[in-house]
Amino acid sequence: MPKASFVTLGCKVNQYETDRLRRDFEGHGFEVVEPGFAADVCVVNSCSVTTEAERKSRGALRRLQRSSPDALLVLTGCYPEMLRRLGHGLDQNALVVPNRDKMDTIRFVAEARPDLLANACPTSAAHRSSHRTRAVVKVQDGCNLNCTYCSIPFTRPAPTSCPAAEVVDEVGALAAVGCPEVVLAGICIGLYRSDGSEGPVELLGLIERLCAVPNGPRVRLSSIEPVHVSDALLGAMARGGRFCPHLHLPLQSGSSRVLRAMGRPYDADAFLEICRRARTVVPGVGLTTDVMVGFPGETEEDFEDSCRVVREAGFHRAHIFRYSVRPGTPAAEMPGQVRPEVKDARAHRLAAVAEEAHAEQAEAARRDAHEVAVEPASGGADLLTGYTGNYLRVRFAGDQALVGSLVRVRVTGGSGGVLDAVLV
Ligand code: SF4
Repeated sequence: MPKASFVTLGCKVNQYETDRLRRDFEGHGFEVVEPGFAADVCVVNSCSVTTEAERKSRGALRRLQRSSPDALLVLTGCYPEMLRRLGHGLDQNALVVPNRDKMDTIRFVAEARPDLLANACPTSAAHRSSHRTRAVVKVQDGCNLNCTYCSIPFTRPAPTSCPAAEVVDEVGALAAVGCPEVVLAGICIGLYRSDGSEGPVELLGLIERLCAVPNGPRVRLSSIEPVHVSDALLGAMARGGRFCPHLHLPLQSGSSRVLRAMGRPYDADAFLEICRRARTVVPGVGLTTDVMVGFPGETEEDFEDSCRVVREAGFHRAHIFRYSVRPGTPAAEMPGQVRPEVKDARAHRLAAVAEEAHAEQAEAARRDAHEVAVEPASGGADLLTGYTGNYLRVRFAGDQALVGSLVRVRVTGGSGGVLDAVLV
């Protein structure tokens, strides 16, 4: 059997797409091996959201080339799209598959190395025989919000949505193998709109259909732009059921002046109002976020605004990013580029603020019992872990047979990223 290996960088959508590619190659008779093992085809599904992501994409190609010197190297994802946009060539010998054709990678491989498929014994398309506790399901692609620091609108296709009926079928297949949670992923998921025979279906309609799948998994949104959080969406979340009470709302900055320069469609007060509304309508809702430090022109006062909003919003978790110059974006040309050491210092200070907010939320979480999708934990045969519905990570003692199921726990303490809990 020909062998294939895959390396994925970047977002949940990339992870999902690699998962689909893996199953497609298996369906065409390839054996999928871990990266670093000898393979005939090595695929890198790359990312270009930061300079660091691009460096790692090149590094992955080099490592795969060393571990399989005779393999066909395939590069897909956002990095080659960025190079093409900038008119730069790739300084590594790889077959480039454009993002729009990514799911057809096997066809590109067949054209480049017909001998590999000649030796393969196709099997019926591999399906998700085994499930993960939390299965990512891509429902949307592309974005047209054009934030001034972001290259994604250049590297991914224009906004598209997966047909609602197909998503319902996919979640139905996951329900059939007992998957307890699906994470809906997209580049800008709030733009979701499927125009099928049943008429237009937008994000809330899709969520309601997925929550109605018999014996189906609970449904979590991976991320949603603040401007796409409607009262109807909060209402559906407040009704409980399988729609996880968790909103990942990218803030990016707490300074309204910086938000305007970023081209973000809200100011700091509007963002805080969305958080307040969510807490009022959905008691116990988990709010998480992304915040960027060091955007061009960011002053100490702007940074203090970010700290204030992170405190006031009461996030469970805040991912903190240092601004990374993206060639071809408006922000790359802006004056007042912030020095790396200043970005580092601000990132550390904001992390401390976010940790304080997390500690407050962890304390509040002790009041109630929480439903957790159980995952295996490293560090002992009877240790388990998982996320609550409102996205607190917990660890607790229990039988490994519980992995892949939903259980109820009570938080007993802990700090940092993982809280201690006991089975109820
Ligand atoms: S919303 Fe903004 S940051 Fe997010 S993908 Fe779209 S352009 Fe990029």
